[in-house]
Amino acid sequence: CGIVGVLSNHEAAPILVDALKRLEYRGYDSAGIATINGKTLDRRRAIGKLVNLQDLLVHDPLAGKSGIGHTRWATHGVPSVTNAHPHRAGRVAVVHNGIIENFRELRAFLADNGISYETDTDTETVALLAQYHLDQGQSPREAAAATIAQLHGAYALCFLFDGEDDLLIAARKGSPLAIGHGDGENFVGSDAIALAPMTDTITYLDEGDWAIVTRTSIEIRNAAGEQVSRPRKKIETGS
Ligand code: GLU
Repeated sequence: CGIVGVLSNHEAAPILVDALKRLEYRGYDSAGIATINGKTLDRRRAIGKLVNLQDLLVHDPLAGKSGIGHTRWATHGVPSVTNAHPHRAGRVAVVHNGIIENFRELRAFLADNGISYETDTDTETVALLAQYHLDQGQSPREAAAATIAQLHGAYALCFLFDGEDDLLIAARKGSPLAIGHGDGENFVGSDAIALAPMTDTITYLDEGDWAIVTRTSIEIRNAAGEQVSRPRKKIETGS
């Protein structure tokens, strides 16, 4: 399973699929991507091998230079298109590796606020919560921060917001996550191998870190919300 996010100056879909291929070695049962075209967020998902997602994209392409991608190893909910990531609620799309341990409590909180779920996954609650916080008048970064603070469990997460084609929010707890530095482009990925075609300069998030990424800036905060700096590393990819 794996995660990728791109804020590129080129079409995102082929970059996302290529990065997901580089994460295939981790195993997966389904895959999906979401992009923002202009200001509009859309997604495509398929069960089985990445070639199925590629076939879908041939018939039903996704344009846009910003996006997120995921290969899923199902833990909550069978492998199906509905349960495949990215999960979407309103303006929010999210990809997640790991397990949200308190998703039942979060579903109950959402139900108390009149919000119901449509998939069997733990991950969908993350998208629903973020949209709930947007509905409370919070900005995307505030909504992501509030959401992350409510999560228990292990996660690598990447958020994409409809209407925001220059913003990714990534978070790491118990699952590795790296930020890739480009030239007027920036990336998020499960590991340096996924990002190797795009960049050899990587910053690994520490436990509990989350990052606000645009094409020209990377701001990393720790679990306490303090801005922190993490080392940049040059990766010898050999590819
Ligand atoms: N727990 C999530 C799910 O079952 C994410 C699984 C994964 O790590 O791919 O959808």
